[in-house]
Amino acid sequence: MREPEHLVIRPPSEARSLLVRVVRGCNWNRCNFCGIYDFFDTPFSERSLDEVLQDIDALHGMYGDIFRTAFLGDANPLHLPADFLVTVLSHLRRTFPKLERVTSYARASSLAKKTAEDLKAIHDAGLDRVHVGMESGSDAVLRLQKKGTSQAQLIDAGKKTVVSGMELSYYFLLGLGGQTLWEDHVRGSALVLNEVKPHFARVRRLWIHPMSRLMDKIRTGEFVEQTPEGTVIELRDLVAGLTPSPMVFTCDHANNYIQVHGRIDHDKDAMLGEIDAFLALPEARRREHYRAVPSVI
Ligand code: SF4
Repeated sequence: MREPEHLVIRPPSEARSLLVRVVRGCNWNRCNFCGIYDFFDTPFSERSLDEVLQDIDALHGMYGDIFRTAFLGDANPLHLPADFLVTVLSHLRRTFPKLERVTSYARASSLAKKTAEDLKAIHDAGLDRVHVGMESGSDAVLRLQKKGTSQAQLIDAGKKTVVSGMELSYYFLLGLGGQTLWEDHVRGSALVLNEVKPHFARVRRLWIHPMSRLMDKIRTGEFVEQTPEGTVIELRDLVAGLTPSPMVFTCDHANNYIQVHGRIDHDKDAMLGEIDAFLALPEARRREHYRAVPSVI
């Protein structure tokens, strides 16, 4: 039996998951800050249904039914037709009956194009959660970064996904508005999160790859990078702008300067207290902390 294909990346929360490659690369691949699939020389291409089903069988042959969670990649399996995904998920669930959770990356634009019936069928076939790079809820920032979505679409796609029964993780990128658009970045993102109430809001800090399109914008002065302290203030203002809901808010990437976690309806004040306590430290201590936190892990 041939080797199954490997994913390029997966979310940190899927570190122990069975990884199934459903599609190669990203069908969008234009976000200025990203370029992950270019760096790993992985152009977008679809895989045949047979190839994916055979990979699932090969993974079972290699490991047996030992996994409790599985993750579908690469960047946007939800771009594929619903019946393709239903077949893959049904085969995965039959082959690995001990799976308790199956998740996937998804673009908001692809979720928005699916009907409510499609999303429910995909969920019923076994997809429990989607990880979506919201990055920002500000239309100005989304345009600047060529994210290929909008505030309205993020709200629409998010609400449809929640109604389908799937859990939704929206990822927010501190610093993505730079020093010019940061207030709109935070305000728009709080608005989307308050409207959608995803199950998880996951925070990471923008790291700019030297070869990315965003680095070119820095060189030309079109984008002015946020300061370390500016990203902490963004984090504080975002948390402050969230209205009570059971949403789990988590800074679950090691490149965050401050790691706050909790449910917004229970832990918002504690999280704000933690951030404010940090900002009240002497400047030298804060600078030392910023130097100690790696930009990329
Ligand atoms: S959609 Fe995601 S993977 Fe694709 S280019 Fe944008 S950030 Fe990168």
